[in-house]
Amino acid sequence: MQYFIGIDLGGTNIKAGIVDQDGNIIRKASVKTHADRDQIDIAKDMGLLAQKVMTDEGLTPSDIEAIGIGSPGTPDNENGVLIYANNLPFHQLPLREIIRQVIDLPVYIDNDANVAALAESVAGGARGTSHSVTITIGTGLGGGVVINKRIYNGFNNAGCELGHVVVQSGGVTCTCGRKGCFEVYSAATGLIRETHQAALENPDSVLNRLIAENGGEADGKTAFIGMREGDAAATGVVDFYIEMLAEGLANIINAFMPEIILIGGGVCNEGDALLLPVKEKAISRAYLGEGVAVPRIELAQMGNDAGIVGAAMMGMDCLKDGIPG
Ligand SMILES: [Zn+2]
Repeated sequence: MQYFIGIDLGGTNIKAGIVDQDGNIIRKASVKTHADRDQIDIAKDMGLLAQKVMTDEGLTPSDIEAIGIGSPGTPDNENGVLIYANNLPFHQLPLREIIRQVIDLPVYIDNDANVAALAESVAGGARGTSHSVTITIGTGLGGGVVINKRIYNGFNNAGCELGHVVVQSGGVTCTCGRKGCFEVYSAATGLIRETHQAALENPDSVLNRLIAENGGEADGKTAFIGMREGDAAATGVVDFYIEMLAEGLANIINAFMPEIILIGGGVCNEGDALLLPVKEKAISRAYLGEGVAVPRIELAQMGNDAGIVGAAMMGMDCLKDGIPG
């Protein structure tokens, strides 16, 4: 059996784990990121945490093949540098060099959404498929594409920013500067914005009561609760959310024709109330010829382990492909 170390760098926690070649976590641990520190200190802690899980498991560097890191932002895997990370004070961080000073093993870096997609492909909902897309709906909307069982990350390792394909031309302005991006409508923040807007426009809607009961703020559940109470404004918010999500998924199907699209994130707790109409609309709009097999749309399965497993498996693939680490 071959072992890899996967490191999941987040704004709140750094997680690391020993992962076998089939994507099973053998041991894992985490420490706080303390994102307001110097970037070199955060990078050193990532190396020390990797070392800790290795020694806790009774292993030495000779038992481990490679280290993979999943990070928010834009990594440069060729040079082992993290160019930039969302929500972290990183700028041109020489991550490979710093980690190798702690454990001298090949070190590979990729984007967190990309490695999450790879984790689903190896050990989660897309297991057994060659082509899959995983989107994660949170504060933003991240997406990762797996083609022929490998992460597809395009030129400069900068792909795929699926949250920034347009679903409504001339729509609401996105953080990227464009109008009408998929993320603007389908991230949890978009759902919350539309919920507040509908409450303002409909003073009689139960949305106002639900928001007041929630301390004055809507969350990703508010519109769904209102819909179940039969409120027209709340139902309108959910319908629009489903509409936009389906448009984005139809674009993804037309661009990549994956065998399966997996959706993860808190909004998935709504289950079939969300998933069934989204599936039906997305498939009916995608360009699918008569008699052609239809891509599946299901819930992501890896949850909080996606980062560790995906990072380790990305390291395994880079090593297999002979990429210098
Ligand atoms: Zn955008």
